[in-house]
Amino acid sequence: MKSAALSTSTDRLPERAAVIDLDAIRHNVRHLAALAAPARLMAVVKADAYGHGAIPVAHAALEAGADWLGVAHISEALALRAAAIPVPVLAWLHTTDSDFHAAVAADIDLGCSGWELAHIVAAAQQLRKTARIHLKIDTGLGRNGSTPEDWPDLVAVARQAELTGDVTVVGIFSHLAVADEPSRVETDEQLAVFTTAVAQAQAAGLDPVVRHLANSAGVLSRPDTHFDLVRAGLAIYGLSPFADKTSADLGLRPAMKLRTLVSVCKDVPAEQGVSYGLSYRTTAPTTLALIPLGYADGIPRIATGGPVRVNGVTYPVVGRIAMDQMVIDLGEAALVASGASVIGAEAVLFGSGDDGEASADEWAAAAGTINYEVVTRISPRVPRVYRNA
Ligand SMILES: *Cc1c(COP(=O)(O)O)cnc(C)c1O
Repeated sequence: MKSAALSTSTDRLPERAAVIDLDAIRHNVRHLAALAAPARLMAVVKADAYGHGAIPVAHAALEAGADWLGVAHISEALALRAAAIPVPVLAWLHTTDSDFHAAVAADIDLGCSGWELAHIVAAAQQLRKTARIHLKIDTGLGRNGSTPEDWPDLVAVARQAELTGDVTVVGIFSHLAVADEPSRVETDEQLAVFTTAVAQAQAAGLDPVVRHLANSAGVLSRPDTHFDLVRAGLAIYGLSPFADKTSADLGLRPAMKLRTLVSVCKDVPAEQGVSYGLSYRTTAPTTLALIPLGYADGIPRIATGGPVRVNGVTYPVVGRIAMDQMVIDLGEAALVASGASVIGAEAVLFGSGDDGEASADEWAAAAGTINYEVVTRISPRVPRVYRNA
């Protein structure tokens, strides 16, 4: 049995924490805004800012030069307004149950692909206000957005709604499908459809002040997609949208570090089974360490092999990841150093990617997913702690 050191080595972080460096957010926003200029930058803070916390991230992004915020849902936009954030906020994903009335009342810009227009006009008339809308054209992604076939009708109806004072068409936008693979021709095809759609809208009398198409990958690799405004999500969190480029390659700094403390450390014999299913067995006498994070915290259960760094050494998770915990095998060396317990030592799952620290990319690889999903899934059970607020 190994005993814990009695002093705590950490600077009063919660025992499990996603530490968010708001200076990293500011750095990334400044970097992206400079790349996008003269286009303006919309910081996309949907899904609680990809798990980083929408309100603190929104404030940091605005301090660093973003002028717009973007979210998927009206409810997310209203939460920004409830925090007294006054800048333009665009929400683009609606259902017939979405609260268009509350959105127009709160001066939320609304994405509109077609059917929403009647709901938005009705809300505007009730409120005796002019709603701000961004018409969306599907240039090839096959999700939201008017088809090119329906587009002439949509712009005509939107122009009528402008003339009656119910709406103003602030923007025209679309979303890229393959910008993370910069050489694919489909981005050129999307650009061509977008340019045609803008021209048709202008011919119908619309005068959108912001045309916007680029996501993070577009900002970083396709200046021809920047237009008047870019919508950057992943990159403001310091993560790379490209499979073959790291954050550092792109001049970005990952903002989230996920850490906890080693909960248990003990010597075991060869053939010790580890975690449910006993899918891992030690091959020799060794030392195991228990890490108190699991799938309830948003660590994918499938990510056995993911990296955990303790005292400057990175160990792969062995055996199954459980709801609350996972195990690393410190190896024979730790056994030789018997008595040198790591109970209470900091265990870092991912962070900057520098100095041997793992990145969310490595956890994504272990889980067969993308870095977007790794950070966004970190659950509310893990407290967010902010640095450099
Ligand atoms: C999520 C989203 C973005 C941001 O995409 P990133 O790849 O994270 O930069 C931009 N636009 C729309 C419509 C989105 O849904």
